[in-house]
Amino acid sequence: MRAGGSDPIREAVRLLAERRNAVALTGAGISVESGIPSFRGAQGMWAKYDPMEYATLHAFMRSPRKVWAMLSEMVSVCGGAAPNAAHKGLAALEETGVVRAVITQNVDGLHQAAGSRRVIEYHGNLDVLICVSCWKRYPTRERWTPGGVPLCDCGEILKPNVVLFGEPIPWLAQEQAEEEARTCGVLLVIGTSAQVSPACDIPRIAKESGAAVVEINPEPTSLTASVTDIQLQGNASALIARLIELLLDPAV
Ligand code: NAD
Ligand code: ZN
Repeated sequence: MRAGGSDPIREAVRLLAERRNAVALTGAGISVESGIPSFRGAQGMWAKYDPMEYATLHAFMRSPRKVWAMLSEMVSVCGGAAPNAAHKGLAALEETGVVRAVITQNVDGLHQAAGSRRVIEYHGNLDVLICVSCWKRYPTRERWTPGGVPLCDCGEILKPNVVLFGEPIPWLAQEQAEEEARTCGVLLVIGTSAQVSPACDIPRIAKESGAAVVEINPEPTSLTASVTDIQLQGNASALIARLIELLLDPAV
């Protein structure tokens, strides 16, 4: 056993146990072990689909059928995925009062599927489709078929309730996320490259408000050298399992 202060994971455990008001900010990386590719990196969606051609509101309005080729792939991959040990671990940490909320940039619904109750969906979700003409909403499962382009009763092509580049963050999610960041004692930043704005501001807001920022990621990010207090390098599932193990019994 090593002394608490010198080992980053034990230092993270000490902060989580002492403060008991942690918030998690998650990104695509937490769902990689559920089989959902992230956007960046060699296996990422953006190696296949140029974000400026597929992930902007402008692109959707100009050529919705083309953008639906990418969206359809996301709906079917996310629809077939199950939460992994990292999602379940965060739900368990909420249950025991260590983590009080999850702010997620993901649109896959896996935190809720794992049992997390307070989930702030910063970029919306794939569960709902919205008409860009008459604003009618539909559950995705009612209108979407694999490879198909879902239509509204009015004849327009439906858009998923996700935030594309060029769209604002839903105001309630933004308010709630900033409030959580301003008032948490520890921010766990898990599986995000922190390159998408304004989500990438959340760690800085937390830090400036006095929180310790603990980053879980196999790679360093733009936050690591500037904002992160404790860097835990590795996969989310293994590191969250280890955090839980040490919280239950610091002697192991
Ligand atoms: P990103 O693709 O830019 O970065 C993913 C990060 O996860 C990288 O830093 C990578 O090193 C890390 N990572 C990879 N495997 C990991 C693992 N096993 N454990 C922990 N970390 C791991 O993701 P982002 O910063 O979330 O930005 C992408 C945007 O695309 C988000 O806004 C999100 O809305 C969207 N997106 C969502 C999903 C989803 O819902 N699952 C999937 C792809 C993209
Ligand atoms: Zn309509």
